Amino acid sequence: MRTPSELLELEGLARTAGAHVERRLLCEVGVGAERFPVHAFLFGSTSLDAPAVGFFGGVHGLERIGAEVVIAHLRSVVMRLRWDETLHRQLETMRLLFVPLVNPGGLALGTRANPNGVDLMRNSPVEALERVPYLVGGQRISSSLPWFRGAPGAAMESESTALCRIVQDELLSRPFSIAIDCHSGFGLHDRVWFPFAHTARPIEHLPEIHALCETMDETLLHHRYLIEPQSHQYLAHGDLWDHLYLGAPPGSVFLPLTLEMGSWLWVRKNPRQLFSRHGLFNPVIEHRQQRVLRRHLNWLDFITRAAASQARWRPIGTERQHRRELAMARWYRGGRR
Ligand SMILES: [Zn+2]
Repeated sequence: MRTPSELLELEGLARTAGAHVERRLLCEVGVGAERFPVHAFLFGSTSLDAPAVGFFGGVHGLERIGAEVVIAHLRSVVMRLRWDETLHRQLETMRLLFVPLVNPGGLALGTRANPNGVDLMRNSPVEALERVPYLVGGQRISSSLPWFRGAPGAAMESESTALCRIVQDELLSRPFSIAIDCHSGFGLHDRVWFPFAHTARPIEHLPEIHALCETMDETLLHHRYLIEPQSHQYLAHGDLWDHLYLGAPPGSVFLPLTLEMGSWLWVRKNPRQLFSRHGLFNPVIEHRQQRVLRRHLNWLDFITRAAASQARWRPIGTERQHRRELAMARWYRGGRR
């Protein structure tokens, strides 16, 4: 089993970042005779008042481009720390977390699931409140079928536990945080999902999501992201972000977002990719991959700034109720954009 090149790249970035970064080993995953680490990379303020943003990739091993987008953003931060005074200032007042490879075993094996055959994004204890689609919604029948949640009554997988613990320690411990989990999905659009996945019911922090979207529409001109609750696409059991959102301390604002990069954008331009599993989920031609990375780096930087400046756009008081009505009209009362 060869060590995935992404792990080697992360080693190099940690060396380059030196004292600017804290690297924390969250767990190790066995694949055959090999053991691969799941690392977190932490930057910036350790104050528990500071807003925080976390970037996550590689939850589904097969979707390499998700990990690559997070690694590219990490690389950009590490390189900018060498010269960019504004970034140093930003990090004095905010916390930055990266977990670029949540499922290194799946990455090494080229599978969506982890080496135990468990789909980490179906692995939390959250049960859907409404009917979920067969298999896709998560199943406990067998690890040889996709979307396996784990055996009935089994503890969460070590990768899921590690992810939950670092989110609790570094994001949920703070009054304001955003999580970005990067995936590659089907379809023609880049989608940004917010919770819930286990029910069509809206979340408490709909006003904050709406304000963030509006700030994005006004700032990232002509962006192509389609922002919607995950429940508009399908409902599922075991979503880790639903689990973490439901466990966030009262009074805190935690906005977990999932980026689903539209893989048909690249398959359409190179239909031969339909015949390879890797090609279905990842842009194969190098210039196309570069274009994908470039497009999303802008967005990840926007989210970082938005988290740092949350006090300037986050609705409070009566503005929240107004925002909630706008958001209900946009996403829940027939309006789907
Ligand atoms: Zn995925």
